[in-house]
Amino acid sequence: MHSPFSTNFQPIPYWHDGVKMPRTSAGKPPKSVDICIIGAGYTGLTIGLELLRAGKSVAIFDAMKLGHGASGKNGGMIGPSLHKLGLTGLTKIYGQAKAHDILQEGIHAIEYFKKFIEQENIDCDLAMTGRFRGVNNQQDLDNLASECETLSKLIGFQYKVVSHQDIHTEIGSDHYHSGVVYGLDGGLHPQKLVAALAKKILDLGGYIFEQSRVTNISQTKLIHHVETAKGNLQAGELVMATNGYTKKFSTGAQKPKFSAFYNKLLPITSAMIATETLPEAVINKLFPKRRMHGGNHRLVQYYRPSPDGKRVLFGARGVDFFDRANINGKNLKSLLDKIFPELQPIKIDYSWSGKVAYTFDHVPHIGKQDGIYYAMGYCGSGVTRSVYLGKKLSMQILGQEDSQTSFDDLNFQSKPFYNGSPWFLPIVLKWHGFLDRRG
Ligand SMILES: Cc1cc2nc3c(=O)[nH]c(=O)nc-3n(C[C@H](O)[C@H](O)[C@H](O)COP(=O)(O)OP(=O)(O)OC[C@H]3O[C@@H](n4cnc5c(N)ncnc54)[C@H](O)[C@@H]3O)c2cc1C
Repeated sequence: MHSPFSTNFQPIPYWHDGVKMPRTSAGKPPKSVDICIIGAGYTGLTIGLELLRAGKSVAIFDAMKLGHGASGKNGGMIGPSLHKLGLTGLTKIYGQAKAHDILQEGIHAIEYFKKFIEQENIDCDLAMTGRFRGVNNQQDLDNLASECETLSKLIGFQYKVVSHQDIHTEIGSDHYHSGVVYGLDGGLHPQKLVAALAKKILDLGGYIFEQSRVTNISQTKLIHHVETAKGNLQAGELVMATNGYTKKFSTGAQKPKFSAFYNKLLPITSAMIATETLPEAVINKLFPKRRMHGGNHRLVQYYRPSPDGKRVLFGARGVDFFDRANINGKNLKSLLDKIFPELQPIKIDYSWSGKVAYTFDHVPHIGKQDGIYYAMGYCGSGVTRSVYLGKKLSMQILGQEDSQTSFDDLNFQSKPFYNGSPWFLPIVLKWHGFLDRRG
């Protein structure tokens, strides 16, 4: 097999190339702040912004460089984040009323998200193009169309069925039999959103310390003591916004409170590639409506044109827990070639990966536990949800009205003997891959 990598290949996110990031806080952290936030992704940044606007002092710490968590690396696909379990699955676990509330909140989340970007005047290439979801046969189409119809009546979900004969109006490929267009979806440039949120926080006098891991936390009475790579500080409130990067603390005299979260999340590697630049005519043929795209494989695959309309960006699960630009790049390119055989001679310029966080009940969780606020577990659909739940959590911290969500009272559960390291996932992924190949 020829190498799929171009001579310009870089093992970095396509999104990081050419985006100017704001200069973050230097020196030591202040002695104390009203609120300390761990994690400078969308969750942490959104919460920080809202709290600063309410007059609180805020310090945000991130172990990595700004935008090197999932928020600066994702596919940039947004939408109501319809639940993985679907209406039937949700109803089975939570009953009809709760299932309805959870799905309805997805619609609120995307409406809030769009308004937020507009009101904040954030330039992040937001384009509400819709998303095409391809299926393999008429039976799958009938099932998907029927679920969409139910959701349309129940929560105002917008969709359009695309029949077999019309498939090429949506995608320049014979890979799918037919599909459905999700009307409320769209795309953006993820790193531009991180940069814009961070700049607003810094302009308002908030602190963002990057490459500053929080190494331990402890609590006495109403004060949180936070130890970081850049120095220690005290905080009135502490927020965990670490999602797929949540880990157990290894140091500290007291029982680390991080332990309360790490074993409730299943970190999974999601990987992406970006092709070389392509002629406009090719992009127009492959993506006639410039929509976001996905299929109905068990192993999620998602793809789209880049916001400038010059490249194809493709994402799927990584092969294991590590950032393996090379192996993931090859694997993803072969999956992309199956959908668009005409891209076979095209090379890839970028390959990267990051961590998403699944939960045992497939829903995000938000609230306060052991004195620590948290919002996390977006199950791979976190762009819209993190901004929305970040807003809600900031309202809960401020004690504001209308801060409640349908996720507040859900049990954020772990499983017996689960230690935060999902050793079983590669086996599950292999099995799902086998089922996908079998059709
Ligand atoms: C490749 C990829 C593609 C994706 N595509 C999509 C998509 O198209 N649409 C969608 O909706 N979602 C997508 N997602 C998911 C989405 O990006 C995430 O759900 C969302 O960004 C989560 O935001 P967050 O702020 O909660 O977490 P993150 O952005 O991951 O931020 C968490 C941060 O916490 C920091 N941290 C952890 N521990 C510590 C510590 N001890 N001290 C200091 N800092 C710490 C980490 O360094 C990290 O930066 C994708 C994710 C990936 C990886």
